[in-house]
Amino acid sequence: MNILDELKDAASVGITGHVRPDGDCMGSTLGLYNYLKDNRPDLKTDVFLEEPGKEFSYLTGIENIKNVPENTQYDVFVVLDCSSKDRIEPFVQCFDNAKKTICIDHHVSNSDFADVNLVRPDASSTCEVLYDTFDEDKVQKDVAECIYTGIIHDTGVFKYSSTSAKTMTIAGKMMEKGIAYSDIIDNSFYKKTYVQNQILGRALLESVLFYDGKCIFSNVTKDEMDFYGVTGKELGGIIEQLRLTDGVEVAIFLYETGENEHKVSMRSKKTIDVSRIAVEFGGGGHVRAAGFTGKGSVYSIINKIGEMIEQQYCNE
Ligand code: AMP
Ligand code: MN
Ligand code: MN
Repeated sequence: MNILDELKDAASVGITGHVRPDGDCMGSTLGLYNYLKDNRPDLKTDVFLEEPGKEFSYLTGIENIKNVPENTQYDVFVVLDCSSKDRIEPFVQCFDNAKKTICIDHHVSNSDFADVNLVRPDASSTCEVLYDTFDEDKVQKDVAECIYTGIIHDTGVFKYSSTSAKTMTIAGKMMEKGIAYSDIIDNSFYKKTYVQNQILGRALLESVLFYDGKCIFSNVTKDEMDFYGVTGKELGGIIEQLRLTDGVEVAIFLYETGENEHKVSMRSKKTIDVSRIAVEFGGGGHVRAAGFTGKGSVYSIINKIGEMIEQQYCNE
């Protein structure tokens, strides 16, 4: 797909990504926004997303993001880094009203919900898939910053198994556009506030190893989040540290989102397909990184996940 060809008859384009936007979601939505601003200035282009994290404030166009849906009928509505329609709430009405919809993504659990779907589960990030729809010579520094951001976030700075030689080639090309790559990595990926570090410490302290040390979980309650004054999107680094625990194959992190409701993140190292588990709970993701929002107590959720992990080991 060449995105400029795909949009050549359009006069207006709406763009969105998934709820609780992460680095790949921010990078791909703003990457497309900036690419269209640079190369199709005549086009009315809007980005709809929930309030993004402060760590992404260096991305061009972030100040123009709309947080509330509009009743506009877009010629084309593009959904990025999102595997199903229910994950674009509250902007689903913009999607439903649009004349044509496009989804560009890399989730193995993607349900091909748009009119045109470009889904590459082998790609490290949506930014990598999106970059392939661009003309290389039309990519400017503002777009390069976005693409690089998405790639580093979804590869854990080039280390997850989804990282390929192609990923590195694209990242290298982005570096050649003059981006401040060290700052992007430090400030958007690794930097933590003091309270984020405190709650990370607490989550690690209270983590529980189970299944002969092959699994680990930790959870943060609503009261704890209120005590430290943090929101769910500031708990991003915890699952990664749990995953690094020696001997662990599956790491699970939960935080309370409401009455008897938890946001659950899972990561695996080599054998367990956590996407399959997430799909069973109505969520989705990738083989090595997946999530869902689950009803029930922490222990009931952990017990169910434990059973599914055991099943996968038995079926190996
Ligand atoms: P997280 O644990 O939220 O960082 O998510 C890990 C991966 O799973 C990301 O690629 C998410 O987009 C995906 N994911 C998380 N939660 C859900 C969900 N409820 N439905 C579908 N995909 C999800
Ligand atoms: Mn994402
Ligand atoms: Mn992604």
